[in-house]
Amino acid sequence: MLPTNAYAAQSAITPLAPFTFNRREPGEHDVQIEILYCGVCHSDIHQVRNEWGGSAFPMVPGHEIVGRVTSVGNKVTKFKAGDLAGIGCFVDSCRECENCKQSLEQYCDSGMIGTYNSKERKTGAPTYGGYSTQIVVDENYTLKISDKLPLAGVAPLLCAGITTYSPLKYAGVGKGHKVAVSGLGGLGHMAVKFAVAFGAEVTMLSSSLSKAEDAKKLGAHHFALTSDESTMNGLKNKFDFILNTISAEHDYGTYLNLLRTNGTMIVVGVPPTPSIVPAISLIMKRKSIIGSLIGGIKETQEMLDYCAEHGIVSEVEVIAVDKINEAYERMIKGDVRYRFVIDINSLRK
Ligand code: NAP
Ligand code: ZN
Ligand code: ZN
Repeated sequence: MLPTNAYAAQSAITPLAPFTFNRREPGEHDVQIEILYCGVCHSDIHQVRNEWGGSAFPMVPGHEIVGRVTSVGNKVTKFKAGDLAGIGCFVDSCRECENCKQSLEQYCDSGMIGTYNSKERKTGAPTYGGYSTQIVVDENYTLKISDKLPLAGVAPLLCAGITTYSPLKYAGVGKGHKVAVSGLGGLGHMAVKFAVAFGAEVTMLSSSLSKAEDAKKLGAHHFALTSDESTMNGLKNKFDFILNTISAEHDYGTYLNLLRTNGTMIVVGVPPTPSIVPAISLIMKRKSIIGSLIGGIKETQEMLDYCAEHGIVSEVEVIAVDKINEAYERMIKGDVRYRFVIDINSLRK
């Protein structure tokens, strides 16, 4: 067994605190990774606080993991000790269903095995995430990481990156499209970068006026303050797509009104409470709402390679692990520019 230092939540109402546990020894298909950086996703907060239900404790969150391979099992072919490697939101899936066969493992019919807050497929042991010093994962669920990009900025690509890249690709977003992104946080800022890179005209819809300058720096062509009624009225019937990353309860109708005929709102944000969808805001101009969950292994690798080629990384604030509870509070207030990333060396001291 591999003794591992971590930060864990012991319940939905207690702060995260130091925790130790054992990782499994690498099996023949496994890669053992010394974790260097782990991004902090709003899904970590939702799950630590049991806002979606079904949380299991102790919980070691973290699914935006980059690190260095320290050893590999004897049947591993894609990685060797010393390589950079990444782990995203899941570490296994059934491998046999139609979705798994198409590398849509996130939609596995038996349910993907989450990097944390889940149970290992073979042993039923709890999975623990990246707020920890090392992880052991099957090579088929491990991503290759380029050494061209700053590693702390790469970590958030493993969730915030793929979650926004995948639906923009699926929707065929590109030149000639008007795209709005709602919610300028971890996901939102990556959505702006990708939509701009794909050639769309991008508008940032934000509840924070203080983020206007940043939105432009990230590449957005326009910024709209969602509390400003006249601005919002002026944006009616404007967009082909809205990528909705908002993490808290909000009115879908307000955003649907901004779509033009046949427009689509892509929902990736997962507020803990259901949103009301007024039928009238869908039928009047044949609008749709679709959802999207992260991305499969193949597409995640494609996204990482695209980022390495185009120099795309996340804007990060690197923190020591003992600042994690403060970071959660700041994220809930929308005060993150634009992703907290834990320097996992702070767990080794
Ligand atoms: P984040 O960094 O905290 O950003 C969320 C943003 O939402 C905030 O920066 C804020 O942007 C906006 N917001 C927050 N509260 C709001 C409110 N009451 N009204 C309007 N806007 C509000 O979160 P994240 O890590 O990007 O995650 C966003 C959501 O996506 C979470 O629910 C997360 O669980 C979910 N998620 C889904 C997937 C998936 O696969 N579908 C993957 C990862 C995460 P402004 O200040 O600009 O308004
Ligand atoms: Zn996430
Ligand atoms: Zn499957």
